[in-house]
Amino acid sequence: MTETPPFSKRSLAAQALGHVEPVTKGVVAPIHVATTFVRDEDNAYRSGYVYGRPDNATIREAEGVIAMLEDAGAGALLFASGMAAATSVFRALDPGDHVVAPKVMYWALRQWLLTEGARAGLDVTLVETESLEALRAAVRPGRTKLVWVETPANPLWSITDIAGAAAIAHEAGAKLAVDSTCASPYHTRPLTLGADIVMHAATKILNGHSDVVAGALAGREDDAFWQRLVTIRKGGGAILGPFEAYLLTRGMRTFHLRAAAQAASAMALAERLQAHPHVAAVLYPGLPDHPGHDLARRQMENGFGYMLSIRVRGGEAAAIATAAQVRLWTRATSLGGVESLIEHRASIEGPDTPCPANLLRLSVGCEAPEDLHADLDAALRAAHG
Ligand code: PLP
Repeated sequence: MTETPPFSKRSLAAQALGHVEPVTKGVVAPIHVATTFVRDEDNAYRSGYVYGRPDNATIREAEGVIAMLEDAGAGALLFASGMAAATSVFRALDPGDHVVAPKVMYWALRQWLLTEGARAGLDVTLVETESLEALRAAVRPGRTKLVWVETPANPLWSITDIAGAAAIAHEAGAKLAVDSTCASPYHTRPLTLGADIVMHAATKILNGHSDVVAGALAGREDDAFWQRLVTIRKGGGAILGPFEAYLLTRGMRTFHLRAAAQAASAMALAERLQAHPHVAAVLYPGLPDHPGHDLARRQMENGFGYMLSIRVRGGEAAAIATAAQVRLWTRATSLGGVESLIEHRASIEGPDTPCPANLLRLSVGCEAPEDLHADLDAALRAAHG
């Protein structure tokens, strides 16, 4: 008999790993809502489930798909939000530990690090992680316990070399964690490049329908640090709810199709907008003039993701006026959904943002790319009178 070749991640995700519900043979697993489970007569818990805060079967199902997508040796852990997942990694450190993180990263996490992280005793250095020289200079061997990178990084889409960052972190005795929300496992699998932990705001393209707030961690190795994360989620009560986990699994069944279409549209838009008379610059790692392009070509696969930014000629007022004129794009924060979103990023990040005032962030969804271009073109022209 010929052996079946290993199935692709796309096939495995489409079937959510192929679980069949044993009672009815349903092809979709039920949502497990029980918060408590019956103990066996000999006092054991053979089902493996005791209570709803540490664990839940619907959560495990979604975690299984994420672990498969990320090639995670330790598995995955789902949290009530991306921020709950990310901050749990920092909470696993001890007071006095040194942390290196990017200057340009998801702004709310940067704010949290500089306020709550510092309050918990973390010694935080922010550095341009896209420069391995800068990263090497920032780590303190023996004292740095975690290097955090985000690639492509919000909202300038700079690219950090994951394998290079992992080597620097490991040499210093630190772990490397990667916020891979904007790459998604369709384009990058950080654990296979040497990262120890990968984090996703599963709120974004993994779920993909703007109807779930969720976060995920996936681990390369089931070591003491990973077990600390398990303990922190349990003790902090930060697990995702089962209904959200069910929706997330449902979203991930079409993840590959959405990610492919969204990346292709983002690339097409980036190329066309580069030639637009009212656009001063397009920031997208797929463009040859992007400073991280060569690295992105080596590190990313299947394209360059669904996120780009444009800098509008005429400054902040022209950027805000453009966002005000769109009819198909949705003027809202967030990213990764089937609907395309446009946002004047500096308005939400506040005065200490590294984001230029004329920048509009674009999350490219599943609409026809020619419609997205026509709508943005009309808005840019209307804003420029
Ligand atoms: N990381 C990135 C790159 C994000 O864009 C976000 C949210 O926008 C987060 C983390 C935080 O995720 P959540 O909003 O689910 O807490």
